[in-house]
Amino acid sequence: MERKIERYCVPGTVEEAVEAIAGKDATLFAGGTDLMVQTRSGKRPFTPLLVNISRIAGLGGISTDGDRVRLGALATISGIRTSALLKEKAGVLTEAADSFAGDQVRNKATVGGNICNASPAGDMIVPLLLLDAEVELASTAGRRMLPLCNFFTGPGKTRRERNELLTAIYFPIPPVGFAAGFRKFGTRPAMDISIVSVGVAATRDDAGWKNVRAAFGAVAPTPIRGTRTEAAIEKGGTAGEIARIAESEVSPISDVRASAWYRKELIRTLTERLHHDVFET
Ligand SMILES: Cc1cc2nc3c(=O)[nH]c(=O)nc-3n(C[C@H](O)[C@H](O)[C@H](O)COP(=O)(O)OP(=O)(O)OC[C@H]3O[C@@H](n4cnc5c(N)ncnc54)[C@H](O)[C@@H]3O)c2cc1C
Repeated sequence: MERKIERYCVPGTVEEAVEAIAGKDATLFAGGTDLMVQTRSGKRPFTPLLVNISRIAGLGGISTDGDRVRLGALATISGIRTSALLKEKAGVLTEAADSFAGDQVRNKATVGGNICNASPAGDMIVPLLLLDAEVELASTAGRRMLPLCNFFTGPGKTRRERNELLTAIYFPIPPVGFAAGFRKFGTRPAMDISIVSVGVAATRDDAGWKNVRAAFGAVAPTPIRGTRTEAAIEKGGTAGEIARIAESEVSPISDVRASAWYRKELIRTLTERLHHDVFET
């Protein structure tokens, strides 16, 4: 499986990076926390061209851009965890970053890498689905936007073309009345890949909860939105009813970390608790 790296390239700008990967089968390296594990274990080989994107100017950062929040692809999980802007506007990302690995990994791991690795258990994906995030992709042909909910096609697979670089993630600044929560279950509180994860979000107005979002990780080939759970929350069902609907709309597999039965139990339990914490207190 081992293949030789023939060329190593460290672009300084997005333009240099997309020129370097155009028409080639390149391996992109951001924080390397997934890539190095996968190449060392033989799960995937390096391609002849290795492109280190970690020094591209302007590819990091967390900021507002008009009525949206922009996360640069190289924003690290530590950066997200300690961002005052995110804590104020989208605390559900802070919450997810808090239960993500430990400091050593968080300091290197990027949000762009978490998305492009496309693990069904990627912890930053569930909160970004709640926030209606879009991803920005760049190539020599220009830039395009894709809703995050349409980005994933299977485990490790996305709609990103081989010649595209994920440059940023954008989401609308949540309105007044917005509330959200994220829960992950692993065998340890952090330093562990999620056995399941759940997120819910909505905005409260005089009539009740609107624009409800529910999302689940590690219970399908990709992280998913739970549209029937969303409808049940919007209708004002009880926490128990909503949790049973959540359980019925996920289809997990059994693997080394948990059985399908256990994952369904966790989805029901965590959804019920989250409903209580986010919508009833
Ligand atoms: C000990 C340990 C604990 C971990 N704990 C967690 C956890 O709790 N939760 C969790 O979700 N993950 C966890 N991970 C997995 C990993 O840290 C994350 O998925 C991380 O966010 C990946 O980011 P990275 O920058 O390291 O990506 P890399 O490893 O550099 O890249 C990952 C993939 O994305 C591609 N890529 C990266 N950036 C871009 C870009 N901008 N454009 C296009 N393609 C790109 C790469 O080519 C590669 O295929 C853990 C890993 C380890 C080793």
